[in-house]
Amino acid sequence: MRLDKMLSHMGYGSRRDIKKLCKDGLVMVDGKAIKDSSIHIDLNNQRVWVGDEEVIYKEFVYLMLNKPPGVISATEDNHHKTVIDLLTAEHRSFNPFPVGRLDIDTEGLLLLTNDGQTAHKLLAPKKHVDKTYFARISGLIGDEAIEAFKEGVTLEDGYKTLPAELKIQSKGEESEIYVTIVEGKFHQVKRMFEAIGHKVTYLKRIRMGGLVLDEGLKLGEYRELSEDELQQLF
Ligand code: URA
Repeated sequence: MRLDKMLSHMGYGSRRDIKKLCKDGLVMVDGKAIKDSSIHIDLNNQRVWVGDEEVIYKEFVYLMLNKPPGVISATEDNHHKTVIDLLTAEHRSFNPFPVGRLDIDTEGLLLLTNDGQTAHKLLAPKKHVDKTYFARISGLIGDEAIEAFKEGVTLEDGYKTLPAELKIQSKGEESEIYVTIVEGKFHQVKRMFEAIGHKVTYLKRIRMGGLVLDEGLKLGEYRELSEDELQQLF
């Protein structure tokens, strides 16, 4: 791979920036300063440094974001801030995209990656990757809702959802619940509650397959997945 391509992918700026780093004598390959940023390097056998930092090449990045409300799950938008705007240049240089979508007002777990194959696997309807949400809903929820969700709920457009698991956390003027669904229909959780007469007033995704939201991440914060979490994905 070309040295400038590799360093650009790893977040060291544009090809022009890298040309300058090389000219300034800051880029070393196997201990030798490299002036020509266009040389080809063997990623398996050669070692690259920028200053005193060794650059370990990786093709893919996997990020867990605690999505805040008000940003959209897209890579570009003319009106709103996107989840990509929350990333540092180091991670943006991988060109990650969100795996699936959360509504603009939904918070919580969102995976971002540039690994299209894994993203596809997680989103494939046939794979039924389950997702758990915490929600606050208007009104007092009754235990019969548990059975209704287990049966599948008929939405306003006539679609009957696959069985979903509902756990009631608290009941009151506003009730708190956990719901696990295996599909990803548009506004699915909100529409399921609407179908049984409740409005979702707060929604947060806390789990997707084997990936659990790190509660240490504040809204808008993110981190790379750990080795263990990566194992869960593949
Ligand atoms: N269901 C919804 O209604 N909204 C989301 O953002 C995710 C699931």
